[in-house]
Amino acid sequence: MDRRKLIAGNWKMNGLRTGAVDLVDRLLDMRAEEEGFDADLLVCPPFTLLDRLGQQLAGSKILLGAQDCHTERSGAYTGDISAAMAKDLGAAYVIVGHSERRTLHQESSDLVRAKADSVLAAGLTAIVCLGESEPERRAGRAVEVVRRQLAGSLPGGATPANLVVAYEPIWAIGSGRVPDAEEVVEIHAALRQGLHDLMGSPASGVRILYGGSVKPSNAKEFLTLPDVDGCLVGGASLNADEFWAIALASQGVPA
Ligand code: PEP
Repeated sequence: MDRRKLIAGNWKMNGLRTGAVDLVDRLLDMRAEEEGFDADLLVCPPFTLLDRLGQQLAGSKILLGAQDCHTERSGAYTGDISAAMAKDLGAAYVIVGHSERRTLHQESSDLVRAKADSVLAAGLTAIVCLGESEPERRAGRAVEVVRRQLAGSLPGGATPANLVVAYEPIWAIGSGRVPDAEEVVEIHAALRQGLHDLMGSPASGVRILYGGSVKPSNAKEFLTLPDVDGCLVGGASLNADEFWAIALASQGVPA
């Protein structure tokens, strides 16, 4: 099954208007020069920049996403933002269940699933993040942990068009440390099998991203592994040249 690669940038709580607009301008220029570029390119800035970047990216070949959302469409939820609001500003994707939300905000898989449900209800695509901690990996429990997170976080009515799964080992995020290729292959194969068990044959079309200290120097190694359908990039997505170099590493890699 052909799965178009997805290179997604998670800016986390970084970016003010001036620098963000410049960064996206650079990306737009580089993307425009690479006519044959054949992958989806996505930037997920903080909520404060969605409106501005949504206008800048409208009609372009770079997609916009949000980093989180509430489970409800609207209501008395002070400080929260819904998927429908992100869509209103031009977002096509919403990241849910990032490990920084699971750990720093105590988000359970049940909550992540409810958020993903709301993303699909708004007509957007959910990027459901999961990954094991270092002690869980050391204990040989990585596969079990991610399979449990997948089963608990998967939204109802998921299809290849509205669901992306991102495997992000917690210990690799922002640390400069990455798993071995065999470890990534093992987890992605387990996630593919898990998706099959939960969704049946459409699972073959769901993209599974790797995330955690992806850099221009290691991107191609990940992107050539079986069942790695793209990358979720944190730190390196804040630098236009690095993010674009990672995007280019996806080119010429068989789907
Ligand atoms: C992330 O936060 O999703 C991430 C993968 O971060 P980094 O690339 O900085 O490790």
